[in-house]
Amino acid sequence: MTDLERTERYRTRMQRKKEVIDAAIARADREQGLLLIHTGNGKGKSSSAFGMIARALGHGMRVGVAQFIKGRSDTGEEAFFRAQSNVIWHVLGEGFTWDTQNLQRDTETAQRGWMIVQEMLRDPTLNLIVLDELTYPIKFGWLDLTVVLSDIKNRPIMQHVVITGRGAPDALCEAADTVTEMIDIKHAFRAGIQAQKGIDL
Ligand code: ATP
Ligand code: MG
Repeated sequence: MTDLERTERYRTRMQRKKEVIDAAIARADREQGLLLIHTGNGKGKSSSAFGMIARALGHGMRVGVAQFIKGRSDTGEEAFFRAQSNVIWHVLGEGFTWDTQNLQRDTETAQRGWMIVQEMLRDPTLNLIVLDELTYPIKFGWLDLTVVLSDIKNRPIMQHVVITGRGAPDALCEAADTVTEMIDIKHAFRAGIQAQKGIDL
C-alpha cells in the first residue's frame, strides 16, 4: 500500500467513525436528572463521585453530600468540599459502631440520617446529591430499599443522584440510569502500603 492509499484509507475510516458517533449524539437529545451507581470491589467509587462534585461546582451548581459510613474525619475531600459555599456536607454514620453490634441503635441512626437525605431529595435547588456508601445501610437492613427507591424516584426531575458502595442491590441498579462496577485488579494496601493522603483520604 502506498502512503497515499494509507492516508486515504485512514481518512475514510475516521469519516465513518465520525458519522456513527454524530448519529449517536443526535439520538441522545433528552435532558433529565440521572441516578448513577458506583459499585464493585475496586478502588474509585467515592473518588469518582467527588470528581463529579468538582464538575458540578465548576458550573455553579449546588451539591449535597451524605456519608453513611464514617471511616475517618480527616479526609481531603471533606476539608476541601466543606469549604465550598455551594456544598452541604452531612456525616450520617457517626453513630454506627461495628463493635456494639446494636441493630436497633444502628437502624435508628440510619433512619434519622435518611430523613436528612429525604429533605435534600425534596430540594430542587440541589442539583447533585452524593449518597456515599449508601449500599451498606441497605445491605445491613437498617434502611428499607423500597423506601429509598421511592424517595429517589420522586425527587425533582433535574436532580442528579450518585450512590456509591460495594454490592449494590439489583433493584437499585435496575432503577439507575448509569451503573459502573469498579473491578479490583490490584490494590496497594494488600502489598502492605497504608492509605495515602491525596490518594485514599
Ligand atoms: P475511593 O474512596 O478511594 O474512591 P472506594 O470508594 O472505591 O475508594 P471504599 O470501599 O469506599 O472504596 O474504600 C475506601 C478506602 O478503602 C479508600 O481508602 C480506598 O483506597 C480503600 N480501598 C478501596 N478499594 C480497596 C480494595 N480493593 N482493597 C483495599 N483497599 C481499598
Ligand atoms: Mg467509598
